[in-house]
Amino acid sequence: MRETLVVGAVIGGLASLLFLVERFIPLRRARHPLAGRLIVNLAFALIAFATVTLAVRPAAVATLAWTGRASFGLLHLLALPEAARPLLAFLLMDLTFYWWHRANHRIRLLWRFHNVHHIDPDLDVTTAFRFHFGELVFSSAFRVVQIGLIGPSLWAYAAYELVFQAGTLFHHSNVRLPIRLERLLNRVLVTPRMHGIHHSQVMTETNSNYSTVLPWWDRLHSTLGLNVPQAGIEIGIPAYARVEDNRLWNAIAIPFRRQRSYWRREDGATDKREKGGTEGDTTFLAE
Ligand SMILES: [Zn+2]
Repeated sequence: MRETLVVGAVIGGLASLLFLVERFIPLRRARHPLAGRLIVNLAFALIAFATVTLAVRPAAVATLAWTGRASFGLLHLLALPEAARPLLAFLLMDLTFYWWHRANHRIRLLWRFHNVHHIDPDLDVTTAFRFHFGELVFSSAFRVVQIGLIGPSLWAYAAYELVFQAGTLFHHSNVRLPIRLERLLNRVLVTPRMHGIHHSQVMTETNSNYSTVLPWWDRLHSTLGLNVPQAGIEIGIPAYARVEDNRLWNAIAIPFRRQRSYWRREDGATDKREKGGTEGDTTFLAE
């Protein structure tokens, strides 16, 4: 219980800090009024919180208890020095989340739900809370498999979870860091410019940069894309760019409706980078 409060305070504090800073030094220019997005994303956050409490966390905790009791999972099987275990647990958790995120884009059923996260027309720290409850229910099944096969200790799992949440807030945020600092950070962390490219309306750009905490998995799987300045990025999914798509009820119902051709715009054109864009940040993350 005390741990939950500490984690809640850390995550709440970081979210508030990023929210404040991105108002003063934004990376991308907002295209939609904040108030409307704020209400929708806050509502998604409340539903997500309930889903995590009722499904994701119980599934994770039960699997952790079971792997501990039964000594199940890769980390229990390997003869490792004690210090290496939490380290390997961290790497494996992050790698498997890379695969899970990629599966959310590749598998049509999962994408129906993950799409709702991507149709937010602007990207900032509030987007980090905007996940459809359907995606979270699927992710609790994934976590049973993930934790079951890896077998991390409770503490290694809790430490990863905290870094995972903090990393998710950070890379969704719209904070404009000095480019040289961000390049340095990007060697070991997924950063706002890197994840901003993942939220682009251009399909090939959305299908890049899937990593959550460590950026190395994209390099390893050849899905890294750093050569797009933020000023040229339109956030969202082309076929879901109508204002009404982002009203709360519609956003909740979209996965259950007939799907549009995601990458085709209303005017029939497919995604292409036609204009470079000059408003906002024009730097390249790759040197
Ligand atoms: Zn995604």
